[in-house]
Amino acid sequence: MSDQKIYTLWSDDQIDEESIRILRTTCEDLSLPLNREEQEMVRTLVDTFLTRDDGVGLAAPQIGILKRIVVFRNKGFDERNWSKKPEDYEVLINPRITQARGDLVSALEGCLSCPDIQVEIARYPEIKLRAYDGKGNKIAKRYSDYVARVVQHEMDHLEGKLIIDHGGALYYPKKKQAFFDKIFQPEK
Ligand SMILES: [Zn+2]
Repeated sequence: MSDQKIYTLWSDDQIDEESIRILRTTCEDLSLPLNREEQEMVRTLVDTFLTRDDGVGLAAPQIGILKRIVVFRNKGFDERNWSKKPEDYEVLINPRITQARGDLVSALEGCLSCPDIQVEIARYPEIKLRAYDGKGNKIAKRYSDYVARVVQHEMDHLEGKLIIDHGGALYYPKKKQAFFDKIFQPEK
């Protein structure tokens, strides 16, 4: 079983410099075919994802693995106790978007690594990509609407990019306003 820590930019009222360094790293490709160590990394990411009910996706750097692996739900987004059947989630290794289409759509996003905030982010409603699945098989996929958003979010993590980097409107709870104002509006 995995009881992996999820790295967050801040916890309580504390900025976490070590986590920032990890989350801001551009991740490396896995080698194909996957070696034993890489298979273990994929398993650790999936296991960690499956122990949680509070995220629709997870990227390897969020648990300190600086490799290009993401896992995400492809249905049941509103369920807190989702089934976690293998067909309800997908793993992508070394994903590359080959086509992004449609008018950008804005929506609020949260992130396990940016607790307590939400950011309005514009994303493509349709993407095509090439990647490898969790076993290392070459795949080509097409995603639309919410799943496309989730995949773009998780792929951002592999570049060290987070929701706060998109420049969208930011929302955070009043009781933490002083802390977040200090981070996001330092001139005040
Ligand atoms: Zn995230």
